[in-house]
Amino acid sequence: MWFENDYRRIFMDMHLNDTNPEYLSKLDVDNFVAHLKEADASSVVVKAHSHVGLNYWKCKNGRMHRTLERRNLDYVGEMIEKCHAAGIKVIVYFSQIYDNYAYETHKSWHLKHATGLSSYHVPLNKKNRYGLVCPNNPEYRQYCKDILTELCTSYDFEGMFLDMPFWPYPCYCRHCQKKYLEETGKPIPRIQNPNSKAWQEFIHIRQRWMQEFILENTQTVKSINPEISIEHNMAAIGENWNCANVEMNTDASDYAGGDYYGGYLQQSFMCKYYNNITRTKPFSYITSRCDKNLFAHTVSRTKDDLLIHSVNALVHGGAFSICDAMNPDGTFTESMYTGAIREVFAETKPLEPYVSGNLKTDVAVLYSTNCKLNENYISAPMHIVKTLKEHNIAFDVVGSRNLKNLKAKVLCIAGAFEITNEEFEDIKAFVENGGSLFISEGFGKNAKLERFAGVEVQRTSAFTYCYLEPKPQFADYMKTFDRQSPYPVEHTAQEAKIIDSAVETLATLTYPYTKRSERDFSAIHSDPPGRHTLYPAVTLVQRGKGQVMWVAAPLEQTEAHHCRQSLSDMILYLMRGEKRTFISNAPDFVEIVAWEKNGKDYLALVNQQEVTPVYPIQDIEITLPESYQNVQVLSKGSTVQLTQADGETKLLVKKLPVFCMMELEK
Ligand SMILES: [Zn+2]
Repeated sequence: MWFENDYRRIFMDMHLNDTNPEYLSKLDVDNFVAHLKEADASSVVVKAHSHVGLNYWKCKNGRMHRTLERRNLDYVGEMIEKCHAAGIKVIVYFSQIYDNYAYETHKSWHLKHATGLSSYHVPLNKKNRYGLVCPNNPEYRQYCKDILTELCTSYDFEGMFLDMPFWPYPCYCRHCQKKYLEETGKPIPRIQNPNSKAWQEFIHIRQRWMQEFILENTQTVKSINPEISIEHNMAAIGENWNCANVEMNTDASDYAGGDYYGGYLQQSFMCKYYNNITRTKPFSYITSRCDKNLFAHTVSRTKDDLLIHSVNALVHGGAFSICDAMNPDGTFTESMYTGAIREVFAETKPLEPYVSGNLKTDVAVLYSTNCKLNENYISAPMHIVKTLKEHNIAFDVVGSRNLKNLKAKVLCIAGAFEITNEEFEDIKAFVENGGSLFISEGFGKNAKLERFAGVEVQRTSAFTYCYLEPKPQFADYMKTFDRQSPYPVEHTAQEAKIIDSAVETLATLTYPYTKRSERDFSAIHSDPPGRHTLYPAVTLVQRGKGQVMWVAAPLEQTEAHHCRQSLSDMILYLMRGEKRTFISNAPDFVEIVAWEKNGKDYLALVNQQEVTPVYPIQDIEITLPESYQNVQVLSKGSTVQLTQADGETKLLVKKLPVFCMMELEK
C-alpha cells in the first residue's frame, strides 16, 4: 500500500473546543502545509473528528466546529488538496468512544461506570473532561458508520487513523448488560478479582466486543475504498486488562501503530513488538513534539531527543510520527518545522532505503496480552529486555502470533498470565526443534507447559520474600551468590515438586528466618536468609533438541547489578556453544540493532542517553561471528575500523555521536 516507504510523519493534534471565537480563528492551511513541506514530512495526520466530537469539514452528520463554519473553512478538504499538491500523503483522523459532542447530544449513548455514573461525573477521575460513549450502543455504532462513510465518499485520501479503540473502564450501560446476559446468561460481574473465573470470562468478552466494534469501523472504510489504509491506535496494548486492547486488535489495522511517551527502553520494547505483530510494514511509532507528552503544551523536545526517537523507530523498521499540538487559536510552533524537525528528517531520510529488513535476534521475549490481569504483565518482560539490552544480547519482543516458526535461540516467558494450548504447542515445537525456553515464575496457568518443564507447582509460598541459592555446578552463572548470600527476590515463590527424573535442579529456594506476617524477626530492616529448603528454585530439563529452564520466583524484579548480571548469565547459559549475533562492550544506554535486508547485513548503534545533549562515546567494540570484508558507514560523524580474525569480524566504532548505521559486505 501507499505507506510502504513512508517514514517521516507529522500527527497534528487539535482536540479543540469552539466555546471561544478565538479557537481556530488563525488556522492557516497554506502556512501549515508550507511548514510540512519545509520540514520534508512525507505524510500528515489531518484531524477530521476530534475527542471534542466536532468536525473539521462541512459535515452532514454531527456538528462542524463553529469557528471553521463561520470562516467557511473546510480544513479536511483543503488539507487534502494542498498536501497532495505538495506531495504529502494524508491520514484522516477519527476519534472513537471519546466524543464529547455525541455524549452531550445523546444521553443514552453514555459509557456507564460501575457506579452508574457517566464520564463527566465519575468520581476520582481527573479525566472527566472527556465525554465517553459506549461502543456497544447500536445508535453510536451507526453514528460512526455515517461519519466514516461521509468522509470516505467526500474525500480522496490515503489512510485513516482511528483513535481510542479501547474501553476506558468497564461499561455497565443497558446495552452492555443486555448483551452480556444474552451471551452468557449471567449479569456482568462487579467484583474485580483476577483469580475469579467470572472476572476472567468478562475480560475475554469485552476484548472480543472491542474487536467487533473496531473491525466494523475498518469494514465501513474498506467497503467504500479498500485502498485506504487503516491504523487503529494500538498504544493501549501496553496498558492492563482495563483497556482490553490486545494483540488480535492489530487484525483491524493494515499496520500497527501507537503513541508512547515512556522513554527509549519502552520505545525499543514497543518497536520490536510492533515490528513483529504488524500485518504489514512499516509499523508506526508516535511520540510528541512536547517534552515529555501532550500535557506539556508549550515545551518542545530537543533535536537530539527527537533524533534518538526517530532513529530508534527507523532501525526497527518503523515510521516515526511526531505528534504536535496545535495552539487553540490555530497557530503552531513553526520554529520546530524550520528547525529541529527539519534537521531530524534530513538526517534520517537518506537511511530509509536500508531499513525494514529482518531483525537478527538471539533471545525473543514474549509479550502476552491474552489476559493482562496480573500486575507484572508488562513489567516482567520489560525488566528482561532491560537486562538483555544492558548486556548487548541481540533481543526481540514477540507476540503470540510469532511463536510459530520462531527464529531465536532462546524464548523468555515472564509475567504471562495466560498461555493458551495453541501457544503451548508452538512453544513445544520451538524447544523440540532445538530452541531454549526460559520461564520466570508462572506457567500462564497452562498445565501442559508446567509438565513440559518437568515440575508440578504445589503451592505459592507463605513467605513473601525468597532467595535463589545456586548449587555448586551453577555457581558460575549466579556469580557472587551462594548459600550465605543467595539471590534475593522480594516476592512469593512457587513451591514445586519435580515430576521427571530428567530434571536437574540448579538452585534451591531459601526463605528468611521469619515471615513478614509474624511479629518476630531476625533483623529489623531486612529479611536475611535462614531457612534452606529442597524446593527447586532453578530447574533445567532437555526436551527434544532443546531445553527448558524454570525459575520459581520472578527474579527479573530484583534490579541490583549482580542480579541483572546473573539473569543475563543464566540466559547465556542456554546459548552456550552457540554463536551470538554480536558481542560488544557498548554501555547500557547504547543499543545495538542488527538486521538483514535483500541479502545485505546492517548494524546500528543508537546512543540513547536520557539527558541531552548526547555525549559522544569512544571506542565501542563489536565482534560479529561472520567474516566481513568491508564496512560502509551510512550515517554521519562516525568512523569504524574493521579487522578479521579466525572467521570473526571485529568492528571498532571510534566515535559514536547520536547514532551510527553501517552496511557490512562479505
Ligand atoms: Zn456499554
